Amino acid sequence: MSKYEITIDPSLCSGYGACVDAARDLFRLDKGGVATVVVTHTDDPAALDAADACPMGAIFVQEVRAA
Ligand code: SF4
Repeated sequence: MSKYEITIDPSLCSGYGACVDAARDLFRLDKGGVATVVVTHTDDPAALDAADACPMGAIFVQEVRAA
């Protein structure tokens, strides 16, 4: 099964939360309004939706092979 590894570049994040709206289980905003990843590895394809939704291109999703 495919898995996805999610990373965020916080220096690019503008904090509007589109990623949280797209994948509530995978992202949250910290107290400073910067997105953080709840889980770095998932098989939830919503990770890809969140990356597409990010207006800043701050989310990177890499497909990795499950061990
Ligand atoms: S969608 Fe992108 S810019 Fe917006 S909060 Fe998420 S990571 Fe930050």
